[in-house]
Order: sequence, then C-alpha cells, then structure tokens
Amino acid sequence: MPEAPRDYNLFEQNKKVLEFIEDVTANADQVQKSVLSEILANNVNVEYLKRHGLHGQTDRETFKKLLPVITYEDIQPDINRIANGDTSPILCSKPISEFLTSSGTSGGERKLMPTIEEELGRRSLLYSLLMPVMSQFVPGLEKGKGMYLMFIKSEAKTPGGIVARPVLTSYYKSSYFKDRPYDPYTNYTSPNETVLCPDSYQSMYSQLLCGLCQNKEVFRVGAVFASGFIRAIRFLEKHWSLLCNDIRTGTINNQITDTSVREAVMKILKPDPKLADVIQTECSKSSWQGIITRLWPNTKYVDVIVTGTMSQYIPTLDYYSNGLPLVCTMYASSECYFGVNLNPLCKPSEVSYTLIPTMCYFEFLPVNRSNGVSDPLHTPRSLNEKEQQELVELVDVKLGQEYELVVTTYAGLYRYRVGDVLRVAGFKNKAPQFNFVCRKNVVLSIDSDKTDEVELQNAMKNAATHLVPFDASVSEYTSYADTTTIPGHYVLYWELSLKGSTPIPPCVFEDCCLTLEESLNSVYRQGRVSDKSIGPLEIKIVEQGTFDKLMDYAISLGASINQYKTPRCVKFAPVVELLNSRVVEKYFSPKCPKWVPGHKQWINQN
Ligand code: AMP
Repeated sequence: MPEAPRDYNLFEQNKKVLEFIEDVTANADQVQKSVLSEILANNVNVEYLKRHGLHGQTDRETFKKLLPVITYEDIQPDINRIANGDTSPILCSKPISEFLTSSGTSGGERKLMPTIEEELGRRSLLYSLLMPVMSQFVPGLEKGKGMYLMFIKSEAKTPGGIVARPVLTSYYKSSYFKDRPYDPYTNYTSPNETVLCPDSYQSMYSQLLCGLCQNKEVFRVGAVFASGFIRAIRFLEKHWSLLCNDIRTGTINNQITDTSVREAVMKILKPDPKLADVIQTECSKSSWQGIITRLWPNTKYVDVIVTGTMSQYIPTLDYYSNGLPLVCTMYASSECYFGVNLNPLCKPSEVSYTLIPTMCYFEFLPVNRSNGVSDPLHTPRSLNEKEQQELVELVDVKLGQEYELVVTTYAGLYRYRVGDVLRVAGFKNKAPQFNFVCRKNVVLSIDSDKTDEVELQNAMKNAATHLVPFDASVSEYTSYADTTTIPGHYVLYWELSLKGSTPIPPCVFEDCCLTLEESLNSVYRQGRVSDKSIGPLEIKIVEQGTFDKLMDYAISLGASINQYKTPRCVKFAPVVELLNSRVVEKYFSPKCPKWVPGHKQWINQN
C-alpha cells in the first residue's frame, strides 16, 4: 500500500497531540475528578484503602476525609511486604510489575516506588507530547536526528523476586523504547544496543562514536540531566583521539568488546578521513569553548534539565554550546511522570512545567516558609488535621504561591508527598504551570544524588571520630557542591578545635574523607563507584576564625545575630570565595566507598 506522505502524517500527529494538551488543560478539573475515581474504582479491594475506611467510595470528599497525607516512611512496611514477596493487593489491585528505585533515600537506601505495567504507557504518552510542542518553536526537527546520551543502570531483585531499577532503565528496556516504530522524533544517533549496553564506558564510547560519525545529521543533542551531558563532553576530551581513529579507519577499537554493540555500530560507521580531520582539528584546539556547535554544526538546542539543582551547570553548558538554547522539556519522577514545558525555548530561570491532568491525581500543600510548618528546610513530619485540610486541587492553586506536590497514582500511592516544592508561574487554560523551586531538605547534589542535612550530620559524626585520638574535633563545618571539577564533588569546610599537641597526619584526614563517603546514602555511593558521576570527596581545613567571618558576612547582609545558624551548605559565590580564601589544607578521599546494587538488607536474602 502506498504510504501517506510522512510530513502530512507528522502534521496530523502533532495537531492531535496539541489538541490533547488543549483538551486536558481546558477540562483539568473534570479530568482530575475522573482520574481519582478511576484509581479508586480500580482499587476497591486494596488493603491500604480498606485500612483507612474507604470501602468502594470514589468521590474526592470521602477520599480526602479518610486518607492521610503521607511520606515514604508511612508506607515502608507495606512496600517491604511487597518486596518480600506478598502478592496480595496491598497498595494496588494490579500486580506490581517492578519497583522503581528513586534517587530519594530513606535510611540511606533508595526508595522503592511500586509500579504497574500500564504505567509504561502513561510515561510513553508524556514523552510523545514533547516533540510536537517543540516543533511549534523549532521547525524541521524531523529532518535531522537527536544525539541523546542514554544509559541504563544496574538492577537488583528484592527478596521476593521483584526487579528494582531506575525508571529510565525500566523504560529503555521496555518495548516502548526498544521496539518503537520509526518516528522522525525518536530517531536517535545511538542504536538501541549502545543504549542498552550495561558497561558504562562502552555505552558512552559507542554512543559518542555514532553521534560523531553522523555529525551533520544531528539537529539536537541532550541527556536527561545537565550533569550527564557534561560528563559526556569530559569523556570526549579524554578519548577523542581514539574516537577519531575509529572514524578515520571505519573500525572500532578493541576496548569495545560487546558484540551486539560492535555489530550495531558497524552498520553506521564508514571510514571518513575528512570528518576525522575536522574532529582532530577542533578537539586539539586549546579552548573547548563552543565544542558542541563546532563538532555538531547543525545543532539547534541542548535538551537537558537545568532546573532545580542542575542549574549549577548552566555556565558550563553555555560555554561548551556557545550559548545554544538550553531546553528543559519535562518534569518527572519515579513515582509518576508529571508534566511538560510548553514554552521550551524560554530562559532556564523562567521554565515552568504544565502538569498533565491525566497522569495522576494531584494535590498541593501550601508552603509557608515563615511559619516553619512546611518549611522546605525542615524534615517532613506528619500533618495535623488542619494542615491536611489545607491541600488544594490542581485548578485551585494561586498564582505566585508555593506548594508541595502530593500525588495519588494508578500504581498505589495515595496522597503521597513527592518532596518537591513548586511555585505557580501561570496557567495553561485551567491547568497551572509551575516553576520547580527545590527538593525539600536537600543540601548537596551533584548528579542524581540528593543528600539531606541529617545524612550529612551523621556522616560528619562518624568521620570526626578519627580525630579523637589527637584530642581534636570539628568546631564548625559547612559544605559545598563543587561543579567546577568534572565530575563535580562534595567539599566539606572544617574549622578544627585542636587541644592535643601531636600533629594530625594527612592520612587521618583522608580516612575522614572516606568515612564521610561510606556514611552517605546509596545513591551517592553508586554515583562514586558505578556511574563515576561524582568525584572524590574533599575536606578543606580553614583557618581559625573563618566561621566567625562567615557570620559577620551574613549579618552584614541582614541576617539576625540572635537567629544566625551556620549554614550546612553554601552556594552563594562570595561566601564560597570567603571560605576558599582561608583554606590551609586540602584532602581527598583516597578511594571509592563501598557500594553494591540493591538494598544492603537484601544481600543475604537473594
Ligand atoms: P527520581 O524519582 O529519582 O526520578 O527523581 C525525581 C526527582 O527529580 C523529582 O522529584 C525532582 O526533585 C527531580 N526532577 C525531575 N525532573 C525535574 C525537572 N525538570 N527539574 C527539576 N527537578 C526535577
């Protein structure tokens, strides 16, 4: 049968998607009402709902009256039962197909988010909205390819035999990704085999090789998070001559041993000495400014998330891309995918995400930073009855107000606090658009790690024990996520109180660094060991009196003397400069901390 001209199809497809967005945002409240009633109707027999007194009712009022607003810790016993093999309908009537391992942690281990098969379809739907939106602003993208660096991570099995892995690993391994029909919008330079290669070196190498040898066809480049994209550039800096050689000769070097990767790459790679010369000339220049546009001259934008903690990478990305637009297309999590950016070419500081009302049932807990109740810097605690009643519906949020996101998902989370703080920036029809403000409690983050103040404090306590034999202690400390190195790394500034007379040898401080790392959560340690996305932790010893100077500085900027507390993390450049100007010694962690896939309590059970 003759095919309809592709452009026509694409035009129709895009139109349909944009109409879908119009429709669900215009009818946001009705959609939300039916999403909740569908979730509750599907799960009438679920133990969790019955436990809270819901017996088949599907209306919002009863649901909100009976169901508490919860955090992960509240459902951890239920999650553990499922992980240990209880297949009864505890949270969801449909079988839990796998656990998605969130980058949020509980007790130092990744949180396990239950998911069901059909959620893959919902995630896929959100992805399908991105390019039709983008094509309104950048026409002609269908004529080129995307060089997207995509990686899978290791997975584990719970004692009950359920697979636990990150959401993207789950997606890339699903048929939605692997068996996707030809579509110009999911036409990537990376063959599936290179994405699905479990060895991160071979995966990165082969994806860059395929991206380079198709360089003229590349119209957009990207990775999920900015940190990952910068890591790829650093990889290129280290390995370009090997890559260049492969392009010159049309062969792949022997380090790439995965046969499926070799075969897939060989279908694309042809000897191209001219291109090899161009790459060699560009990469051997002393400055790498604008390397993206030099090597991929038709690139129109860089698709990476630079909202939230990733904003620390904007200057580096601007440098490498010569100021190409940095495009944040979506907002998602392991719990659920939430929304899309309908104005993708806006400045990173102005990005807002429109929550798609079909994804889950959304509620919003007003955040009032001054009353301490929902202060993003405080550890979440159970809400009292009055606070539970303060939650508002998707269509009732107020412009300019900040809220904590609470979701009820098809996969068995009910009134679950995601931990993100969002600010209403505007509306698309009836659906609000949110700036991402912050993740609650997170003080340090380099890649997908999210370290909170309590974890940092515990790690500090453990590390400081090495100083006890020297009659020394840490009198003040703060921390900084240093992203000027690639990969970035955690820096701890320590001011010491020294009572003993024996000098402290450097190896003791190095032990302190390692103990800090060993004490941090599993996502951090995975970043250090497996993903190599975080560099060795550094301790910088500062002169006596530095933290007094820090306080003087804060007070000069208007902080109250009575309420001043040493910040446990610093970001403001002048403060970092002040600290750095008083550093007397520096130490790095001498090796990687221990890390194994899965939760530590599963090791003897599997
Ligand atoms: P995970 O559950 O590990 O996939 O992490 C999800 C979390 O990553 C979210 O709850 C946010 O805190 C953060 N995140 C995801 N998308 C964005 C985005 N577009 N901008 C800022 N932060 C994001």
